[in-house]
Amino acid sequence: MIYLDYSATTPINDEVLDTYVKVSKNFIGNANSIHSLGTKSRELLESATNQISSLLKIKPCEVIYTSGATESNNLALKGIASFYKNRGRHIITTKLEHSSVSETLKYLETLGYEISYVELDKNGLINIQNLKSLIRDDTILVSICYVNSELGIKQNINEIAKILKQYPKLIFHVDGTQALGKIDVDLSNIDLFSFSAHKFFGPKGIGCLIKKENIKLTPLFHGGKSDSIYRSGTPALPLIVSLSKALRIALNNLDNKYNHVKKLNEIIINNFKSNKNIVINSNDECIPHIINISLNNIKPETFIHAMEEEQIFISTKSACSNINDVSSTLAALKKSEKISSTSIRISISHLTTLEEVMEFLKIFNEKIEYLNNLKRGN
Ligand code: PMP
Repeated sequence: MIYLDYSATTPINDEVLDTYVKVSKNFIGNANSIHSLGTKSRELLESATNQISSLLKIKPCEVIYTSGATESNNLALKGIASFYKNRGRHIITTKLEHSSVSETLKYLETLGYEISYVELDKNGLINIQNLKSLIRDDTILVSICYVNSELGIKQNINEIAKILKQYPKLIFHVDGTQALGKIDVDLSNIDLFSFSAHKFFGPKGIGCLIKKENIKLTPLFHGGKSDSIYRSGTPALPLIVSLSKALRIALNNLDNKYNHVKKLNEIIINNFKSNKNIVINSNDECIPHIINISLNNIKPETFIHAMEEEQIFISTKSACSNINDVSSTLAALKKSEKISSTSIRISISHLTTLEEVMEFLKIFNEKIEYLNNLKRGN
């Protein structure tokens, strides 16, 4: 099997899975119980939170555990919109967001919030002058995806964050789900930051919303205090400890892992460039982990299943989107409907080997040839 869908999810790291099993077996107490089993669990919870906060250079009280980035994004956007509604009802975002942001904002629109979309250049980078010009007295929130999940477009978040700091009443939310564990992230000028553990070899079903201490939120779930007043429920200790371990492992040797992925990306892109049947949608602003293409004359689902017959797993634009939909990212970049509705995403990681890439390319080229011949009736 050759797995090339790491942006949809990653396999759990063995050491992380081991931690999950050990914590599940050995820490049975509820971290909120006052007996000794509860205290033992509470201490482990606090040490995991301390580790996450030191890795991300934030305070422990700024970590809110969620079920994943979808919940983190919902909590951030709905929570801010509700808490600061008397300050204003205007929110700025982009057309490159994951559905857990874009659909949440559409929902807020139905409640009377106004959403503005910042202009993008041809590669999908935010036009900073336009962003500044959209800011009004009633703007409460700017929400921007660090790395877009379909093409891998990476925004200049540090530069944007510094500019937005000049507007003290404005809250800056970053969806960092496709960035954390792949590139260096600096949260110092970001108010809210969402991520999921399963994108960096952690377990599925756990994520975080990092919320700076001075920011307030209306919670989505009401109930007991749990480990944060912003998210009730018994702390998912095995998942939390696994997340902290996965994060530590993911951030270790980040540069070497990145360079490995970049080298493999170059091999794939160079091969694709020489094939006239392939349109490369990813550009120089994209992280090397994601390669998005469209195929002339071949339906993406036909191609993906043809690759699957050879045990090679690639994806349509994004696992969270409907296969027949037009890619909102490609549409935002003003690509034709044909390109926007036929994209394929190949996503690689530091675990991808050169041998896998060579085998993938060989079969990829053979399948294109075969499917084109079928079409021509040869
Ligand atoms: N944001 C981005 C950019 C994503 O890629 C994803 C997952 N594809 C999410 C949010 C949602 O993450 P999850 O499915 O883990 O809730």
